[in-house]
Amino acid sequence: METKVITMEDREPVDLTRLKEAGEILRRGGLVAFPTETVYGLGGNALDKEASQRIYAAKGRPSDNPLIVHIAEWEELSPLVQEVPELAKRLASLYWPGPMTLIFKKRGCIPYATSGGLDTVAIRMPSDPIARALIRSAGVPVAAPSANTSGRPSPTSAQHVLEDLRGAIDLVIDGGEVAVGLESTIVDLTGDVPTLLRPGAVTAEMLRRAIGTLALDPALTRPLAEGVHPKAPGMKYRHYAPRAEMTLVEGEREQVIQTINRLAAAAIAAGKKVGVIATDENRGAYRFGDIKWIGDRANEAEIAHNLFSVLRAFDADGVDLIYSESIPEHDLGYAIMNRMNKAAGHRHIKAEKTE
Ligand code: AMP
Ligand code: MG
Repeated sequence: METKVITMEDREPVDLTRLKEAGEILRRGGLVAFPTETVYGLGGNALDKEASQRIYAAKGRPSDNPLIVHIAEWEELSPLVQEVPELAKRLASLYWPGPMTLIFKKRGCIPYATSGGLDTVAIRMPSDPIARALIRSAGVPVAAPSANTSGRPSPTSAQHVLEDLRGAIDLVIDGGEVAVGLESTIVDLTGDVPTLLRPGAVTAEMLRRAIGTLALDPALTRPLAEGVHPKAPGMKYRHYAPRAEMTLVEGEREQVIQTINRLAAAAIAAGKKVGVIATDENRGAYRFGDIKWIGDRANEAEIAHNLFSVLRAFDADGVDLIYSESIPEHDLGYAIMNRMNKAAGHRHIKAEKTE
């Protein structure tokens, strides 16, 4: 299959005539990758079982890992779900459209192929004007996981999508780089206590301010024990992962720098190709390996925006090992460290003083 690319940098206003074909492809059961404010999504008609199966096939994604259904208007929610709890209304009024996904009890119109066999369904209203115009043009809810090959870092540009999916999908809408760079926050409101299943740009602090109590799925911060199932089935897969073995180095600034320099030098001496993920404040401090700058510590949004493209760049460079600085786990830093921990397979070490 030849993958068509249309370039649409302008969002104000979105050129609707250029989205007509994309909308038709979705209605017919085809696949269209499109920009959202979080990462690029791989869209298919959420009500069409075969379209969902095509999404799994194109990504190489296990079919028990449910898809997020994207809508453009509030009125599109109730036909898809059994009930809209008060807390969902409150969260949606604050953070929709935006980078937050809510879990509901699904209605029969959502095929099990879309919900990964579950009786619940994940729904989000994205804020990117191209995403919303595309959903309107399709006239159906759009199931869209991240538009990457399963297991690779999520795509934050159309280039990333094409690296993974060229030839496997009908169309890519190139809307430039995404704004946030991390996948949406996921909140489950179907149980007794609202539970955070995946941290994102709508932070745990923001959610707690809005709804009070918020439980954290233990799978967020710890590697999963054998036989334990996280509430978001997708969290059990090795996600966001670069091909290299990555290690997070934690501790006080000077010691982190010394430790990374020492480990990088030793690995290079042993014949390995080494990458280092560093923040801008530490420019000039690293002496060994392929050093990539992830952004300013004072600007977590910049770090979130750059993380996946830095991981992909290390894949392209073919490094064997990556040593990375860590950042504090609050606000957006919690979501960043969640993705970094997954990329590192939860491998971290404490920095040590050497002299
Ligand atoms: P992606 O769209 O690639 O960002 O992945 C979607 C994420 O949402 C995965 O981690 C899924 O496990 C999670 N998810 C989707 N639907 C549900 C659901 N009904 N219950 C819990 N988690 C879900
Ligand atoms: Mg994904």
